[in-house]
Amino acid sequence: MAQNSRISWTSATWNPVTGCSKISLGCQNCYAYKMALYLQSIGAAHYQKGFKVALHEDALSIPLKWKSPKLIFANSMSDLFHEKVPLSFLLKIFETIKNTPHHKYQILTKRPERMLELNDKLSWYDNVLMGTTIESAEYLYRLDLLKKCSAKTKFLSLEPLLSNLKNLDLKGIDWVILGGESGENARPMQKEWVLDIKKQCQEQKVPFFFKQWGGRDKNKGGNLLDGQKIQEYPFILRESTLFDLDNLN
Ligand code: SF4
Repeated sequence: MAQNSRISWTSATWNPVTGCSKISLGCQNCYAYKMALYLQSIGAAHYQKGFKVALHEDALSIPLKWKSPKLIFANSMSDLFHEKVPLSFLLKIFETIKNTPHHKYQILTKRPERMLELNDKLSWYDNVLMGTTIESAEYLYRLDLLKKCSAKTKFLSLEPLLSNLKNLDLKGIDWVILGGESGENARPMQKEWVLDIKKQCQEQKVPFFFKQWGGRDKNKGGNLLDGQKIQEYPFILRESTLFDLDNLN
């Protein structure tokens, strides 16, 4: 499955893998989990197994068909470094990435341990942005693991932000995305945490992208920080004339 995305920091999603299992606090209200069960209930082809990990050979070639450059989130309905995604299938995904240098791929994992285990077996093409999620202070160790990855461009997703993250050492990190949780059971995010992390990014000259406040109705919360929209992008995207970063969606 692939489609234009409503996620503000990407332009398309590509899901050669679907399904996952909950691994940390940020997974509690996982959007992919709810969506997978819904898609299973309406008989969607790739979701017959619901939220169980499933590999989709027929989705591997989708980005090859997109002729205009896209910023692609791979993938939004799973975690590519889930232990049930074999290296052989990851290699096929990376082959597609290699064969589509006009696209840029955002890969986000909550399993940077496995990412590092496979680091030397994967070719980290220049069009990959590799990220990890840190939703609260207990997962700060993921930052150190990400730094060891050979990807050229690295980013943090601090979403859903559930605690302040003090003393971030952002050396080697190219981008920080931050957002509050949204939906019925959204957990609150304090403004003080957001301002503190924004300050750390500014001091360390790391682009900072504030996605949303979140809350039960994310549109109500909006994405303004003290009246300003702050959505900065990493160099790899700014230098490219292929993307209209103000109008990704
Ligand atoms: S790692 Fe991501 S996709 Fe997997 S359960 Fe957690 S939030 Fe959902």
